Amino acid sequence: MKVLGIESTAHTFGAGIVDEEKVLANQKDMFEPEEGGIHPREAAEHHYQQARTQVKNALAEAGLEPGQLDGIAFSRGPGIPQCLEVGAVTARALSVKHGLDLTGANHCLAHISIGERTTEAEKPTTLYVSGGNTQILSFRSGRYRIMGETQDIALGNALDKLAREMGHPHPGGPEIERLASETDEIKEMSYPIKGMDLSYSGLTTEARRMHEEVSEKVIANSFQEHGYAAAVEALERAMSQEKTGNALLTGGVAMNSRLREMVEKMCEQRNEDAYFPPQEYCMDNGAMIAHQGMLRLQNGEKLAITESGVRPDWRPDEVKTAW
Ligand code: AMP
Ligand code: MG
Repeated sequence: MKVLGIESTAHTFGAGIVDEEKVLANQKDMFEPEEGGIHPREAAEHHYQQARTQVKNALAEAGLEPGQLDGIAFSRGPGIPQCLEVGAVTARALSVKHGLDLTGANHCLAHISIGERTTEAEKPTTLYVSGGNTQILSFRSGRYRIMGETQDIALGNALDKLAREMGHPHPGGPEIERLASETDEIKEMSYPIKGMDLSYSGLTTEARRMHEEVSEKVIANSFQEHGYAAAVEALERAMSQEKTGNALLTGGVAMNSRLREMVEKMCEQRNEDAYFPPQEYCMDNGAMIAHQGMLRLQNGEKLAITESGVRPDWRPDEVKTAW
């Protein structure tokens, strides 16, 4: 089964194609704001400009005509409503024009299933950390339960905000990582864990207030050490409770080498496996939506056009997964 997947939840417009054997294409373009964060209307405009090109590029990469596809999937949520609409409209149009089965993918679950596909992870306890999401998920009785999550902003968003306030460009995560690598000094900050949940908004404010007395590299390092340790602690507790025996780290922040190191060490101490998908599958991408779409279509989970509205607040634990 060949499925085209469209990703458009936030800054990335992606088009990917998979079948059972291979990822046949994975094309994307990222909206990069000139200043500030992601403006929904501007990001959606970017996606409209890119939609045709990215789909065409994906078909060319796979060496396929649209009629040779078996289905089409779009990222139905969670995400920025205006951005989600672009992917949905594109998918519906292709579905009608070429007579393709349509399905909608949950973005968070797509991160997990592409992680399972591209590593040896099996129903992993997952730390999903990105620009818009921060969740710890674990599979139980047919669903990925949210074991813990941020109560305010996502970890990636916090890194982006902090970097922006220090005058560095978007995306902030790599900038903070670079600054942090220049020192071993850590200033004590609040520890942003609340039970199994996390909270990064206050930590960002605290870091900003340190700006007068403390150097940028020490702020960056302190933020990383506190922010990442809290996320890994919540992950460890979920692993301890759920006994899944393996962890998956995914989302854009999963690119961070200090965070990877912490997850690796924690799993090593527990004698459990840690998995990290290749970089192109950690970031938002079309192939993960195509893969999730393929699993859904194989399970008969088609969407009628009239029922294919986007779901900006769609939580992954609302989805009963047969795959
Ligand atoms: P996503 O929303 O999954 O596409 O991921 C984007 C987020 O990942 C942004 O908030 C980036 O700042 C963050 N990010 C990318 N690379 C790194 C890195 N090396 N360290 C920390 N965060 C990163
Ligand atoms: Mg994502």
